[in-house]
Amino acid sequence: MHVVLSPHSDDAPLSLGGWIHQLTASGHDVLIVTTMCGDPRPPIPDTPLIRELHTRWNVGDAVSAVRRREDQAAARVLGARIAFLDLPDCIYRVDSDGAALYDTGEAIFGPLKAEDAVSGGVPADLLDLIGGATDIYAPLAVGNHVDHQAVKQWGMSITAKLHGARLWLYEDYPYSETAGAVDATLAVTTGALSLLPLQLSTQDMRAKMDAIACYASQISTFWVSLDDMEARITAYFTQGGTRPPHERCWAHEGFWG
Ligand SMILES: [Zn+2]
Repeated sequence: MHVVLSPHSDDAPLSLGGWIHQLTASGHDVLIVTTMCGDPRPPIPDTPLIRELHTRWNVGDAVSAVRRREDQAAARVLGARIAFLDLPDCIYRVDSDGAALYDTGEAIFGPLKAEDAVSGGVPADLLDLIGGATDIYAPLAVGNHVDHQAVKQWGMSITAKLHGARLWLYEDYPYSETAGAVDATLAVTTGALSLLPLQLSTQDMRAKMDAIACYASQISTFWVSLDDMEARITAYFTQGGTRPPHERCWAHEGFWG
């Protein structure tokens, strides 16, 4: 079983959708686990950041439920199974006094806070879901989003516990589009890494774009339109048309025999 750890509901298709399709099309069992798309615990903190994001997403307070449905549709397109952990996105997580832990745009791309429960180790329900996995895919955490940082840490801890499982760190798209962002992240990642470009077929790329199109609530955040999404995805994953399509993963050699 291949397990793809996806901090938010769209990360797996955005970064690794073509590879997931290739695996399932050739008969592999792929489980996507979306980790931080649980319902926020009331009372939801009243921060300008949450108000701004809810306005932009335009789906009211049921944002997490909407995104889980989009995620299920995308997983169907890719032929993968999907499961969810019941953890809210970082913007909804609070300290022991009920104050938002990450209340600004800068904070969600800053350090993962020690008082944040997700920094305290791998959740038990995640370990229950992924026993028997042969390959674990975790974000490289390009862009430094705190949720991606936490899931990257889990990937390393889980793989150390699952005997013989391989750890792959995928480049987080679209954060990886920013010049220098991947190199900056590699420089702060412990352990030996080697790049494994994952070659994709035309059908894999088609499935990836069809999966991304399932996230209607997110399209406007990243792209002007669906056509714009397809053009930018195609350009990025073919390096401007200079190479066959591929997604980029780093094998973490500490976990490869
Ligand atoms: Zn994300």
